[in-house]
Amino acid sequence: ATDPMALLGALAAVGSDHARPVDGDPRAIRRVGVIGGGTAGYLTALALKAKRPWLDVTLVESTSIPIIGVGEATVSYFTLFLHHYLGIDAAELYARVRPTWKLGIKFDWGPGSDAFMGPFDWSADSVGLVGAIKSHGNINGSTLGSAMMVADRAPVYQVGQDPVSLMKYLPFAYHLDNARLVGYLTELAERRGIHHVEATIDDVVLSDDEWVDHVRTGDGRDLSFDLYVDCTGFRSRLLGQALKTPYRSFGSSLFTDRAVTGNIEHGGDIVPYTQATTMNAGWCWRIPTREDDHRGYVYSSAVISDDEAEHELTTRFPGIKNPRLVKFRSGRYEKAWRGNVVGIGNSYGFVEPLESTGLLMIATEALTLVSTLPASWSDPQPRDAVNMGLAQHWDAIRWLLSIHYKFNTRLDTPFWKECRQLTDVSGFQPLLDIYAGGAPLSRRNAVVQDLANRVAPSFFGLYGIDCLLLGQQVPTRLLDLGEPLERWQARSRAADSLVARALPTRQALEAFDAFPELNRQLLQDADSWAGPQIAERMGLR
Ligand code: FAD
Repeated sequence: ATDPMALLGALAAVGSDHARPVDGDPRAIRRVGVIGGGTAGYLTALALKAKRPWLDVTLVESTSIPIIGVGEATVSYFTLFLHHYLGIDAAELYARVRPTWKLGIKFDWGPGSDAFMGPFDWSADSVGLVGAIKSHGNINGSTLGSAMMVADRAPVYQVGQDPVSLMKYLPFAYHLDNARLVGYLTELAERRGIHHVEATIDDVVLSDDEWVDHVRTGDGRDLSFDLYVDCTGFRSRLLGQALKTPYRSFGSSLFTDRAVTGNIEHGGDIVPYTQATTMNAGWCWRIPTREDDHRGYVYSSAVISDDEAEHELTTRFPGIKNPRLVKFRSGRYEKAWRGNVVGIGNSYGFVEPLESTGLLMIATEALTLVSTLPASWSDPQPRDAVNMGLAQHWDAIRWLLSIHYKFNTRLDTPFWKECRQLTDVSGFQPLLDIYAGGAPLSRRNAVVQDLANRVAPSFFGLYGIDCLLLGQQVPTRLLDLGEPLERWQARSRAADSLVARALPTRQALEAFDAFPELNRQLLQDADSWAGPQIAERMGLR
């Protein structure tokens, strides 16, 4: 089953077009039941309907089991997914969900007390990583995005009457208030013809080990579909509970398992990044919305109690309102797709939210399902390829996160000492060995870069790894600058002058609210990072 040629053959047979069922085929896939009404359920239902409009899609959601209600920081890929793949209108998203922007993550992490920036425009390396380190001892200001983050600005300018935006040259992501996002997606799903059933699935009736015949609701209804998408969150009602799929924990790399969350006033000061601050037994996020900052302390319940975590959060950030506890576990099921069941979202896999990978993976999983689903259960089915591919994505994220824990030297609390000692980084060790011999990795020669990408592939590429390792000041042999330092300094001054005239984020967002043309440039211009050509190249159209 794992022979690569057989897998490729199966994929080729399915083809890249979205196949339509033929009339009269009793095994045709026409009726899809998406079980769960969180972000995973709605995004998956919308993706299926957007690309295979002939499917009869029903979303079943329990009114007695609430959605998890977190999941607000995203990555730039998700911006393309929303607008190009799902066809969500930017003006409508701005009006309904009122997103803010994320140019990257600001890490209060590593030695000393300074923060380092992990910007999304890292691959531009527009000012220069090595020069930044040689000039002031850390990686900040190595790109224009990083310089904007340091100064709390967004690259939008007031020139005469109209605003001018450089956002199309700087990859960014959204912060999305979870309640508003799910509310908006619910309405969109209804407008796009997705049926909605309010019911709790109490029983899953199998016709054999890997095949769901129908599901039974708490009020005694039997619902039957050709395909079941399990979006029931951590309960994993079908993939985990009914099909008893084995689970692979990431617990040896990621020790956190709870978060206490709350909101805090920001007085109109909207930062253009997600912030990750080291805490005694984990870390705390800061996600700006238009109204306030959302905070969440992610911690290990083996080390501190829930009360201690709440106390630390509210003492460190006085004024936090309505603290709420969220429990989670990091890991994935062995397979996402078994028989006529596919798990998407937390029902299949989850890692703690340090790199905002939840919504990214939902998009990836939904895209994979839409692209590989056959028209009929009589057609070839690339299950093994899908299961291997998605598992590799999750495992890569696990290893990427593990290096945040292994190398963070900010605090000497019992939790952090244990992390430095015990965190399993084995999946990234070959990459760490290459890094130790010379960095930035993204400046090593092409053969070494290729090797590094093969031994430890990651969504964030070698630039992303460079930011994390150099940002945390993990020892390496720093490569030569390769140019006079004065030239680096001149670029840095040029970036600083662009930053100095850029608007504070709140004003920049208001410019986008008022001038829809700015979003049009961002999403339609051929030279934009979020334009249709890039989306097409990434399979997002
Ligand atoms: P849920 O939101 O839990 O939805 C499950 C749905 O299934 C609900 O509608 C429920 O009613 C329904 N359901 C369950 N059982 C049944 C049943 N038997 N019958 C019928 N319906 C049922 N991701 C990011 O991208 N960025 C972040 O910043 C981020 N932060 C996070 C912070 C924390 C602490 C956690 C835990 C996660 C975070 N995530 C983040 C991940 C993100 O929250 C999830 O990936 C996302 O919300 C998807 O959730 P879901 O739809 O899978 O599950």
